[in-house]
Amino acid sequence: MTNIRTRFAPSPTGYIHVGNIRSALFPWLIAKQNGGKFVLRIEDTDQARLVEGASDLILDTLNWLGLDWNEGPGKGGEYGPYIQTERREIYLKWAQKLIDKGLAYADPYTTEQVEQFREEAKNNKQAFLYRDYRPEDPPIWDGSQPLRFKVPEVKRYTWYDPVMGELSAGPEALDDFILIKSDGLPTYNFAHIVDDAEMQITHVIRGLEYIPSTPKYLSLYEALEITPPILACLPHIMAPDGKKKLGKRDGAKSVQEYRTEGILPETMLNFLASMGWNDGTEQEIFTRDELITKFSLDRVQRSGAQFDEKRLIWMNGQHIRLLSIDDLFNRVANFWPESAKTADDIHKKQILKLVQDRLKTLADLPTMTDYFFAEPIVNWSMIEENNQLSKLDKSEIIRLLSTSKETLEKSDFDAESLQKTLNNLLETTGQKPAILFSLIRLAVSWAPFSPALNETLATIGKKNTIKRLHNIIR
Ligand code: GLU
Repeated sequence: MTNIRTRFAPSPTGYIHVGNIRSALFPWLIAKQNGGKFVLRIEDTDQARLVEGASDLILDTLNWLGLDWNEGPGKGGEYGPYIQTERREIYLKWAQKLIDKGLAYADPYTTEQVEQFREEAKNNKQAFLYRDYRPEDPPIWDGSQPLRFKVPEVKRYTWYDPVMGELSAGPEALDDFILIKSDGLPTYNFAHIVDDAEMQITHVIRGLEYIPSTPKYLSLYEALEITPPILACLPHIMAPDGKKKLGKRDGAKSVQEYRTEGILPETMLNFLASMGWNDGTEQEIFTRDELITKFSLDRVQRSGAQFDEKRLIWMNGQHIRLLSIDDLFNRVANFWPESAKTADDIHKKQILKLVQDRLKTLADLPTMTDYFFAEPIVNWSMIEENNQLSKLDKSEIIRLLSTSKETLEKSDFDAESLQKTLNNLLETTGQKPAILFSLIRLAVSWAPFSPALNETLATIGKKNTIKRLHNIIR
C-alpha cells in the first residue's frame, strides 16, 4: 500500500498507562515499515474529563519512547490543526453537510422528557433508543441544543478487522447519537470520523471497546460519503491473573513510572509489542528496527494479552546487555548512588562494565555499585542467612579472613594476578569457593551479589580491600 497514514489519538484525561501506548506503537510501526506518516492528534473535546498537564505528559512519553510523529502538536502538517478544540469550524462544516441532507436534527427534548421516554421504554420492556422518539418537526438548530445524527437506515453491518477478522453487528447498535453537544464541541463519535477523513488516515487502530460502536461509525461514514479506513481493534491487556482487564490496581503503572524505575524505552516497546504478538518464531527480544520490519497486524492474537511485569524486568536485563558501555553510561546518568558523585567517568565506566550483565533495571545501580565508591555498611545477618557461611564459627571466619588478607597484601591487584592469588588461597585454606570467595566478597562489599571476585577486588583496589578486611577481622 502506498501513502499509509496512521494515527494515535489520545484524550488528555490523565496519566498514560502502558496499555494506551500499544495504540500508539502499532500504528507507528505500520507507518514506519511502509514509509508512511504517523499522525498525533489530541482529542480534547470532552472538557469535563480534561486533566491539566496531560497533553504535555503524552508528548513527553512519546518522545521518550522514540515514537516520533510526522504531523501533530509541535510539528505542524498540512492537515492541521491537530488539537480537536482548535478544529470547531471543520466539524460545523461537516455537520452542515448532514443537516443539508436531512440527516441531522436539533434535539428538542429536556432531560426530564428523555427520562420519561426512558421510563416508558423500560415499562414496555424495550431498549431505549432515541430513534424511536425522533421529533416530527424539529426546531432549526441554533447551537443551543445537541445536534443528533438521524440514522438513515437501520440495518446489519459486516466489516473486516485485520486483527479480529470478520465482524458483524445488528440494528440494536444503531441510534441517533449526538454529533455536536450543546457546548458547541463535537462528540468523539463524530469528531474522530471527520478528522480521520480530513487527515487522510488509512488505518485506525484502537482498543476493543470500540467494536460495539462500529456500526454507528459505518452508518455515519455512509451518510458523509466517506470510504472508511481500515478499522483494527486490539485485544485487551489483562491483569496478571488473566481474568480482568488490566487496571491501575493490578499494577498498570504510567509509562513515566517505569521510566523512573529504570526501564529502557526499547524494552517498553519490545514488551508492549510482544504482548499479544509474535513473529511466528521463538524470538522474544526485538530491537526497535526488528519490530519495524517484523510487525504485522494479522499476527496480533485475538484473545487478551497477559500483563507480566516479571517478564518486563527480565526483558529489560536483556536489552541492557545489548547496549555499548558508552550508551549505557549516558543512560544511567541519574541513577548512580550518592557516593559516586565525585568519581571520575573512567572509573564509573569500569564499574558499569562489571555490573552490566546483572543489571535488570537502571535503578538497581545504587545497590549494585555503592560499595565501589564508599565504605559498605557491615551487615552480619548476611553471613547468618547464608547457608554455607552460617555453619562456620567465628574463629574460623577470622582465620580465613586473616589468611586472605595476608596473602592479598602480597599480591598484585590486576584481575589476572588476583585470580591466581585467589586460587592459591583455596589451596592453602582447603576451602571451597562457595565458602571462601563468598566470605571475602561479603567482607569487602556487604552486597547481595557482586561481579567476579577478582574483578571486584581489582576495582575496589588494594588499599580499600585490605582496609575493609582489616576492619572486619578487628
Ligand atoms: N481519544 C480516544 C481515546 O483516547 C481515541 C480512540 C481512537 O483511537 O479513535 O480513547
